[in-house]
Amino acid sequence: MNVFFLLTSLHLFAFSNLPPHIIHSDNDVLISASALRSHVDFLASDKLEGRMSGTEGERAAGDYIAKWFKDHGLKPAGPNGSYFQEFPITYGGEAGPECELTFTTSTAKKVTAEPNKDFNPVYGSVEKTPVEAEVVFVGEGRVSENRDDYEGLDVKGKIVMLFPAAPGDRFNNNSRSRIAKEKGAVGMIFAGPIEEDSYPLMRVTRTRSISRDAGLVAVAITANLFEKVSGLKYKEARKTAASGYVPRGFAKGLKAKIKVDIQQRKITARNVMAMLPGNDPKLKNQYIIIGAHYDHVGWGDIGALDAAEKIHNGADDNASGTSTVLELARVFAQTKDNRRTLVFQLYSGEELGLVGSFYFTKNPTIDLNAVHCMINLDMVGNLTDDKLELDGLATSTAWEDIVSQLTNGFKIAKNGGPRGDSDHYAFAAAGIPVLFFHTGLHERYHRATDDAPALNYEGMAKVGNLVAKYIRAVDKQEELLPFKKGEQVTKRKPPSKESPTGETTRRVRVGLIPDYTNNEPGVLLAGVSANSPAEKAGLKAGDRIVQWGTKKINSIEDLQEIFETAEPGKPVKVKIVRNGKEIEITITPEAIDLINTDSTKAA
Ligand SMILES: [Zn+2]
Repeated sequence: MNVFFLLTSLHLFAFSNLPPHIIHSDNDVLISASALRSHVDFLASDKLEGRMSGTEGERAAGDYIAKWFKDHGLKPAGPNGSYFQEFPITYGGEAGPECELTFTTSTAKKVTAEPNKDFNPVYGSVEKTPVEAEVVFVGEGRVSENRDDYEGLDVKGKIVMLFPAAPGDRFNNNSRSRIAKEKGAVGMIFAGPIEEDSYPLMRVTRTRSISRDAGLVAVAITANLFEKVSGLKYKEARKTAASGYVPRGFAKGLKAKIKVDIQQRKITARNVMAMLPGNDPKLKNQYIIIGAHYDHVGWGDIGALDAAEKIHNGADDNASGTSTVLELARVFAQTKDNRRTLVFQLYSGEELGLVGSFYFTKNPTIDLNAVHCMINLDMVGNLTDDKLELDGLATSTAWEDIVSQLTNGFKIAKNGGPRGDSDHYAFAAAGIPVLFFHTGLHERYHRATDDAPALNYEGMAKVGNLVAKYIRAVDKQEELLPFKKGEQVTKRKPPSKESPTGETTRRVRVGLIPDYTNNEPGVLLAGVSANSPAEKAGLKAGDRIVQWGTKKINSIEDLQEIFETAEPGKPVKVKIVRNGKEIEITITPEAIDLINTDSTKAA
């Protein structure tokens, strides 16, 4: 994200009346229910295993999307002429090199377990500090009004061995760890998979974690290893434990030594993006982004609302939005009636917290200052009684007019917003007007039952065709949509088009991420972009820029003015306040190549 995509001037902006014929009448290129169904059938098939970010299923979905764009003649809009924008996500973990688990039986026999095969560390465990103690079996480790699995057992200073909670069990592993701590245990060993027929080992993810506050050392072992060290039959023992009976005197004299080391797992996810150049010589340098996320929650690792560890196909969430964006791309590739350049984007990492869309707004491949608006579709496959939710209306003074003229038989629920639960939020946070289409939550949401046959494809087609009308309506506006936040309306200025030589505009890139919530003099940084001149110069979050060259900086507008005329590659001395002290730093702004919509070259 560069600094000049937000806040040009703060004049209140009276929006002009809309042109009279806002509804595109000559539209025979439409989105059909059957076309949408064929996309959803692929994206929400078991083969893609729920499209979890960074998995093979997500890759396959991304490839499908990119091929669709290519086949319909859309140009790549990712970095380096690619349809893909890769980004890292830290998600879950795996056993690190210091992991250790050794049992000593009552007959002094040693059993050494192998990490990743016989055992895993458990998220939330104390790390790198080993414990060695006697093992006490506590069944499911439940304590409630009418049940106490610890009754008659002394676990003080000992390691409890117990069965893990199934997903959805209210008495989850967190609760189990808190009870173990209360009873005086120093460690935990979870035995076997979380459910029959699921993974043989509890996986190292946050959703399988124990409470960090418990301060316990915890590992998970396989059913095999459990049988080896306990002398019990796993299935039988688990059944008995479920009924609340804990066999006394289990594995007497069994000791364990545990050391935990968890390495964060880094995965690479991909946003997929393509563009369709506009047909207006002046406005084609502006963009309308049409987006949706295409990732989902895989095997229910995160965010699943049901108990089952099953494939979560995410047909409505969000194969529906993805398919509609693909069809919108096809429609406009055929009609080519867009004045502005349309950028179609499918994000990954949404389910992990809008990671892909925020990555894009912080590492944009187009000038965000020239983005007219962002239109987001997330869960549009469950149209019921023609009820449609529109969110983000509070982000521009333009939306009310457009929306009131385009109801098209829908019962529209208008939200000011933006809500923080889908990708449009990242764009609103970047100062871009957003509009979000959604057909509402339902009982299949984030459950394994969100499957392709349940969707209302006629309804989806209706929504898709309505969105096409919105795109045309907003494209009819002459001025860049003003951005509204609270009561503050910001009229945005389109970037200047051509240099005198007719080359593509070159702008400086510094990579500042300002903290817009701060009103003290200077510009406070919320962060800096990776590999940017700002990062290279050593700027970081918390720094306040107070002078740039010879100019005092009072606000972000001061910086913007400088950047409009700054020369790329020319070092400049910058004064910042860090920890209350003023220091000087030298920054060399870089030139930024914006994507040139006249050629196939993308930058
Ligand atoms: Zn979701």
